Amino acid sequence: MPEGDVVYHTAAQLRRALDGRTLTRSDFRVPRYATADLTGRTVLTTLSYGKHLLTRIEGGLTVHTHLRMDGTWRITKPGARIPPGDQVRLILANAEWQAVGVKLGMVDLVKDEREVIGHLGPDLLGPGWDAAEAVRRLRAQPERTIGEALLDQRNLAGIGTIYRAETLFLRGVWPWRKVGEIEDMDSLVSLAQRLLNANKDHVGTITTGDRRPGNQTWVYGRAGRPCRRCGTRISRGEMGAQPQERLILWCENCQPR
Ligand SMILES: [Zn+2]
Repeated sequence: MPEGDVVYHTAAQLRRALDGRTLTRSDFRVPRYATADLTGRTVLTTLSYGKHLLTRIEGGLTVHTHLRMDGTWRITKPGARIPPGDQVRLILANAEWQAVGVKLGMVDLVKDEREVIGHLGPDLLGPGWDAAEAVRRLRAQPERTIGEALLDQRNLAGIGTIYRAETLFLRGVWPWRKVGEIEDMDSLVSLAQRLLNANKDHVGTITTGDRRPGNQTWVYGRAGRPCRRCGTRISRGEMGAQPQERLILWCENCQPR
């Protein structure tokens, strides 16, 4: 699932293709907006907020999209052939570019952005990133496990399973530790923000500082392989209540119970 860094990067791609240009075509392939037509309107800009994308359109409208599990925005020349089998949910095109939203998990057209992002905590990659507010929201539920609390976008927006696993490993925190038992939440949140920020301008996630394939992460994608610090086999499990459980990887030795 794309996390905050990928969504930030996607927003930049959409800005390059759409900003300041007039739409020559809009094609909403979701029942709710099947008749919506933005042709003739200029795209102002696209911003990311956590894992959400906000494409602001002239006339006080915002197209809200979310990549969810495996959505993507593909930028092509207008009229370029769309591969058969692509589940296209939305096309926004101008004279120079065509942005094709494939397998998008959410597509909305709203007047008030608060409808779609108002519930979210501070955006880890946003200009208004507020670490103190994120810590306050996390601490408000001291009985929760830190692993679940970090994925709850109402606490802070942008972390998915990769950054959760990597942050907790680097801080030596067992994923099932209770929020109320974590002494230094400020450092934990600040580290998560730095990891996301370091990856927002390129493709791929590197948390070890080593760009070589296979060396880029500490625990994510490394189940059963030796811990880079202590040699213990990396554990793999799931966290959260069904059917919301999500992947977690950790080192039993470096992240003791
Ligand atoms: Zn270890």
